Amino acid sequence: MIDVVLHPGRDRSLRRRHPWVLSGAVARVAGEPAPGAFARVLAAEGEVLGFGHYSPQSTLRVRMLAFEKDVAEEGLLEARIADAVARRAASPLLRDTDAVRLVNAEGDGLPGLVADRYGDALVVKLTSAGMLVRRELLAAALREATGAAIGFERADSVAARKEGLPARQGPLWGEPPATPLWICERGRRYRVDLAEGQKTGFYLDQRDARDLVERLAPGRRALDLFCYTGGFGVAAARGGAQRLTLVDSSGPSLALAQENLGAIAAAAPARFAQADAFEFLRSDDAGYDLLILDPPPMARAERDVARAARAYKDLLRSALRRSAPRAYLLVFAFSHHIGPEKLRQIVFGASLEAGRPLRVLATLGAAPDHVVALDHPEGAYLSGLLLEA
Ligand code: SAH
Repeated sequence: MIDVVLHPGRDRSLRRRHPWVLSGAVARVAGEPAPGAFARVLAAEGEVLGFGHYSPQSTLRVRMLAFEKDVAEEGLLEARIADAVARRAASPLLRDTDAVRLVNAEGDGLPGLVADRYGDALVVKLTSAGMLVRRELLAAALREATGAAIGFERADSVAARKEGLPARQGPLWGEPPATPLWICERGRRYRVDLAEGQKTGFYLDQRDARDLVERLAPGRRALDLFCYTGGFGVAAARGGAQRLTLVDSSGPSLALAQENLGAIAAAAPARFAQADAFEFLRSDDAGYDLLILDPPPMARAERDVARAARAYKDLLRSALRRSAPRAYLLVFAFSHHIGPEKLRQIVFGASLEAGRPLRVLATLGAAPDHVVALDHPEGAYLSGLLLEA
């Protein structure tokens, strides 16, 4: 174990249980500061503040695991993993699906670790030095807690580079399927590509919004913009949409979307467009009464927010031109920097410019397996609005 001593006055965020120690807060380190070392963190005056994993290269110098005065490293991660898995298994909000996020990093007291279950397979992402150097221990603990037949690690090369460690992708245990596997979420079936798909293969965080789309769909002409593998499109089809349009710029994603829609026997006629969504909306002249706008992250940092707001307004103005009276619109922002209030302001701007008043029916967020710890507000990254034209 090493000791990390903070500068005077830099202990405040830890006393509020915030799980990150920034590099600038660290005065000195006693002991061998190896990547991922278990670290005891002390205030300048010597008081023990807690324990975490040390990252010698990252600006997130220590990711905290515990805020007690005395914590044993042994068994800590295993116990956290078992707890995270047990909470999901017991949750009434996560029934009727075989695809669930089992570990959500800081939200589960496990910064640097994400584990998603897809049927019998677990997809694992390690994004901190502490987790990257404990790959075998984590794999064993996840296997033990879940009984999953397959464990597969997805490389996060951006995170690994920040940690100064090599990224790795491949099986952790078992034999990964050679083709995308099927999951079943509340009656909706999707193929998920564990190795090549976006995120860990699927947007599990939109599960509850898919339920909502299914309920809103009957008789409506639905537009799934930025559809990826058709998460929302399939929900709209199952809900009884009259017709469907799915748009994405990625060919492989659309191919899976087509397969997913194809598996629904009574699905309405569907049109698939491989196109830039902004251009598609400008040239399309169809009318819609259920529109889902789920673009990729547009504001990774605070300085991107103004540009993202302009892009959203552009998108929304075009979408409103295609929206029938009383249409439902679901708009999402995938960024900690655009919360529900900011999103509401942006949508209001577009509504004013388009001369189309909009009513907010609901505020939306990530599904409850994407737990956010109150002491880590940065963990909230997905906001959405359900609007009525
Ligand atoms: N709605 C999806 C997730 C969307 S992720 C779901 O619930 O599963 C964002 C998607 O936007 C990705 O599939 C990406 O390929 C696509 N994309 C990114 N830029 C785009 C653009 N300019 N036009 C159309 N699609 C785009």
